[in-house]
Amino acid sequence: MKWLVAVSFGELILKGKNRKSFFNRAIKNIKRNIEEIGYNDIFIESSKVYIDVEKQKHEQIISQVKKVFGIIYISQVIMCEKNLDSIAKAAICAVEDFENFQGKTFKVKTNRVDKSFVMKSPEISAKIGGYLLKHFKNIKVDVHNPDFEVFVDIKEDAFVYIKRIEGYGGLPIGSSGRGLLLLSGGIDSPVAGFMMAKRGVEISVLHFHSYPFTSKRAHQKVNDLAKILSQYTGEITMYSVNLLNIYKEIAKNCRSRETTILSRRFMMKIGERICNKHKINVMITGESLGQVASQTIQSVSVINEAVDIPILRPLIGMDKTDIIKISREIGSYEKSIEPFDDCCSVFTPDRPVTKPRLKDIEYSENNLDTDKLIDDAIENMEIIKIV
Ligand code: ATP
Ligand code: MG
Repeated sequence: MKWLVAVSFGELILKGKNRKSFFNRAIKNIKRNIEEIGYNDIFIESSKVYIDVEKQKHEQIISQVKKVFGIIYISQVIMCEKNLDSIAKAAICAVEDFENFQGKTFKVKTNRVDKSFVMKSPEISAKIGGYLLKHFKNIKVDVHNPDFEVFVDIKEDAFVYIKRIEGYGGLPIGSSGRGLLLLSGGIDSPVAGFMMAKRGVEISVLHFHSYPFTSKRAHQKVNDLAKILSQYTGEITMYSVNLLNIYKEIAKNCRSRETTILSRRFMMKIGERICNKHKINVMITGESLGQVASQTIQSVSVINEAVDIPILRPLIGMDKTDIIKISREIGSYEKSIEPFDDCCSVFTPDRPVTKPRLKDIEYSENNLDTDKLIDDAIENMEIIKIV
C-alpha cells in the first residue's frame, strides 16, 4: 500500500481523435514541471497518470502539476492490492487522512475498469462502506447527498482516494496551433498568454524595448514574466526587438498624438514577419476595450488593418479586476507591478487619438520608410530561449 499523486484528464484528451498525442504532450509537460522537485516513477493506468513520490512532497508536486493544461482534477491516492481486504485497509487509511471526517456522511463510489474482478461495482462499494462504518463509529452513509465520497478504482491495481483538487481544464499545449504573444511588462499581456495557452495554443513571445531609453531591469522583468508563463506553456522562444529608432522617426515625422497607434501598427507588422517566418498562426495581445484611452474599437480596427494575420485579444471584454484576479492566481501579478517601464515616457503622448481613421494614419505612415525601419528592427532582433 502506498500513496501516489493521480492526474485525471478531460474528455477531449481521453476520447478525441488525437488522444495519443494529447496524452503524450500532457505527460511531457507534467514531467517537465516536477523534474526539479524529483519523483520516483510516473506511469499510466487506464487513462490516469500516477506519480510515485514521497507523501511529504505531494503538496509541492500538486501545485506544479496543476499548471499543466488539460487536467480536470488531481488527487492523492492510495495504491493497493486488488482484493477486498487491502482495499478496505486503504479506504480506512484514506478516511483517516481526510482532515474532518468526524460526524460526516459519506458514500463509496467504485469504478471497475477491470471487468474480470470478481465483484461488481455496487457490491464493492457496499462492502467497503460496511468496513468503514464498522471501523469509524461516528460516520454515516448518505448515498444521495454525502459530505464526502470515497472513490475506489479497480484497474490493474486498486486505488482509493477522497479529495479531488480541481485543475484548470483546457487543452494540452500545442493542440491548437501556434501564437505569438506581444508581451509587455504590464499586467494584461501575461494573462492574455495564459488564456490562449489554456486553450491549447503554443506560445512564442515578442517584446519591444527602447534600450537605452528603457532599462536593462525592464528587460529582465519581461524575461521573468516569460519564465513565469513558461511554467504553463513549456519552453518559450522570445523575440526581443528594439523599437527606439522607429519611435524617433515617428517623433520626427508624425503628429505626436498618433504615436501610440503608429507604434502599435509597427509592432504588428514586425510580429507578422516573425509569424510568417516561423510558421506561427496568430498574434495575441492583452488589449482590453476602454482600459486605456488608446484601446477603442476604432484603434483596434486600425491596428488590425496593419496586417493580414489574425490578432487574438482574449481580454477584450474583461474588467481590470477580473484580469488582476487571474494575474494573481497564475503568479505574474507581483512581477508585473514592479516599476520598470517597458516603454519610454518621452514618446508617450499625453492625449493619444482615441478615434483614429485609417486614411489619416496611412497618410502619416507615408512620411516614414516603413519597410526599411522594419527590416532594420528585425535584423537587430535578439532571440532568447526561456526554458
Ligand atoms: P499590458 O498590461 O499588457 O502592458 P496595457 O494595459 O499596458 O497592457 P497597452 O500599453 O495599450 O495596454 O498595450 C496593449 C497591448 O499591446 C499589450 O497587452 C501587449 O500585448 C502589447 N504591447 C504593448 N507594449 C508592448 C511592448 N513593449 N512589447 C510587446 N507588446 C506590447
Ligand atoms: Mg503596458
